[in-house]
Amino acid sequence: MQAWVIGNWKQNPATNHDAMALADALLSATAKEFDKKTCQLMVAPSCIHLATVSARLQDSSLLCAAQDISTHSASIGAYTGDCSAEQIADAGATWTLLGHSERRQYHKECNDILVQKMRNALTQDLGIVFCVGETQAQYDAKQTLDVLTEQLAVIPTLLQQAEQTADCADILAKRLIIAYEPVWAIGTGKVPTVAEVSATHEYIKQTVASFAAPLADINVLYGGSVNAANADNFAASPMINGALVGGAALNAESFLTIADAFARAKA
Ligand code: PEP
Repeated sequence: MQAWVIGNWKQNPATNHDAMALADALLSATAKEFDKKTCQLMVAPSCIHLATVSARLQDSSLLCAAQDISTHSASIGAYTGDCSAEQIADAGATWTLLGHSERRQYHKECNDILVQKMRNALTQDLGIVFCVGETQAQYDAKQTLDVLTEQLAVIPTLLQQAEQTADCADILAKRLIIAYEPVWAIGTGKVPTVAEVSATHEYIKQTVASFAAPLADINVLYGGSVNAANADNFAASPMINGALVGGAALNAESFLTIADAFARAKA
């Protein structure tokens, strides 16, 4: 089974020159030794670097994603500061992250907004990496599964709003990946145990499968302080289909070590 390892570059690096250098470092290493059949790599540069990075990666096995898209319109309009799904697709991205905890925290993204963003993404055939996860307080209060249930409720809402629910489920089966990212593990160096992540992923898979039959085999990635040293542990779990990587994705060597751990484990 193919794994997915996705680098979320967030608001990094500072210059286009450095973004291209990171893309080039990934390209030269993957061209030589990487087994792309067992692990699909994707990077999500910041919006300002998306077009140049995706152009550089165009003929490679690496995919390019946006980190977000506009809620308000899938195309054009008077939405200062936004980038639409159409513009993102035109810039060369084929996927977008949605619902990252930093978007939920700093931009107050709630389920209504995220359903609309998903609809917009699908109008442009963009794949969606939908991020979910609980805060430290919710984890401590043992509310993780309740939080995930509430966050995943965007999927049945989207299906209900679709003109053809069955067609929408078939499309989502091909274009939706869930990334489980406990907020308390993002950028902190703290990680849940592999057993905890595996049990949570099992719950996510069962929940998503209950929404529509075609969603029975959805990929669920883990994100939160994954690095070159701990990737093997996560990769060993059959419940963990890959990783969404922040900090460690800004260094080509550590990102590819993580990818290699998943490629070996899933081969
Ligand atoms: C993220 O923000 O998606 C993430 C997983 O970050 P980090 O790997 O730095 O914890």
